[in-house]
Amino acid sequence: MRQFDAIDTELLKKYSRPGPRYTSYPTAPVFSPSFGSGDFLREVQRTNANPDAPPLSLYFHIPFCDTLCYFCGCNMMVTRDRAKIRDYVGLLRRELAMLRPHIAEGRQVAQIAWGGGTPTYLTPDEIRELAGATRELFDIDPGVEAGVEIDPRDMTRDHVAALKDAGFNRISMGVQDFNPAVQEAVNRIQPEDMTRRVLDWARDAGLTSINLDLIYGLPHQTLATFEQTLDTVIDIDPDRIAVFNYAHVPWMKKHMSLIHPEDLPSTEEKLRILVRTIEKLNDAGYVYVGMDHFAKPGNELAVAQRNGTLYRNFQGYTTHAGADLYGFGITSISQFDRMYAQSVKTIGEYAARLDRGEAATHVGTLLTDDDLLRRDVIMRLMCDFALDKRAIEARYGIDFDTYFAAAFPRLQELVDDGLVRLSADRIDVPGMGMLVIRNVAMAFDAYLPAQLEKPVFSKTI
Ligand code: SF4
Repeated sequence: MRQFDAIDTELLKKYSRPGPRYTSYPTAPVFSPSFGSGDFLREVQRTNANPDAPPLSLYFHIPFCDTLCYFCGCNMMVTRDRAKIRDYVGLLRRELAMLRPHIAEGRQVAQIAWGGGTPTYLTPDEIRELAGATRELFDIDPGVEAGVEIDPRDMTRDHVAALKDAGFNRISMGVQDFNPAVQEAVNRIQPEDMTRRVLDWARDAGLTSINLDLIYGLPHQTLATFEQTLDTVIDIDPDRIAVFNYAHVPWMKKHMSLIHPEDLPSTEEKLRILVRTIEKLNDAGYVYVGMDHFAKPGNELAVAQRNGTLYRNFQGYTTHAGADLYGFGITSISQFDRMYAQSVKTIGEYAARLDRGEAATHVGTLLTDDDLLRRDVIMRLMCDFALDKRAIEARYGIDFDTYFAAAFPRLQELVDDGLVRLSADRIDVPGMGMLVIRNVAMAFDAYLPAQLEKPVFSKTI
């Protein structure tokens, strides 16, 4: 069943404006170097003194890649230096051991995620070693949700066996586009048979929860070529599919200038691709669960979306709303209680911090009461496409309409276009409004007006 009656591409085009993706609020540009290692450890100790502290979510950042994809927006580095990668695994183990005594005994790990870069650029032995070190130090919930980003271009059957041994039960693979001309233009040659082979290995090993990532807006993409990619993806039958908008921001990511702007599809073509993607995935039985994400109706994300328990953090949408997130490795982000902290950007700094017995914090922020309230509003809108104003009033002791008086004029255009519905008790984002949910959230962001003066955000559509 289609979730959108008819999608008006002219209207979508109107709302294609720079804006945050709200994997956090406040967003990363607000994080400050005045929040350092000592501040982070103080927050770790303070939150671990709480006997009712929630379960843990551990994120490991593996920044290495074999080759550079020109569209890449991740924190990564290309290297063929295996010794460097080996040493980094050792640093991650040291960081785990350094932080462990500060975390209360008995707190179980409910979620583990390895992201990158390319986690499967580690050797099978390195994968087993890092997972083993985590298990030795932490109490892992038997029902842990353990996910890893994989890249078939570097993988052997032994990698799959190592991921299974390491306890992973969810895999996510970047596909982006199966068309050879597109793959060549972005320097990511990943033939369909290679992708299928590795996914077959994974399924044979019992790794059956599969997410595939696609990107629209890449060079040489057309509606016709992307439809073929979608047909192949639907045939592969993953549980989830993420379809990201390529943000061409060479002023932020220099290597994007290797993509020729004249090869990029026009905004109109991109929107046609987006609309057809939604229709095709809906027709194939996938539900649009939130910004860029589709899932089968029985998948945990879709279920959480229906139950109002979906949450959003640095890994995108998650069902682990209450968990405290600890990030390990360079550029990783930790998030718990009133705090965000991001680690240093280079391996040299990372090693130096660990040598000094310090946390790797590079920047961070402590949330004010206003930040907490706005985060709640923005996250509910991003996850539920609706907001119960009375629930927010009860939780924070405010009068919603008075507190957010400045937000309503910013929502008016969306209301006039039928993308947002306001009533005394609720804000609803029906139909096509779901596709511009970032624009809706932006109305509640207190930092945005100042941030928009600098080109720090990609376009919302
Ligand atoms: S493999 Fe992933 S992280 Fe590495 S360059 Fe390509 S897109 Fe970026």
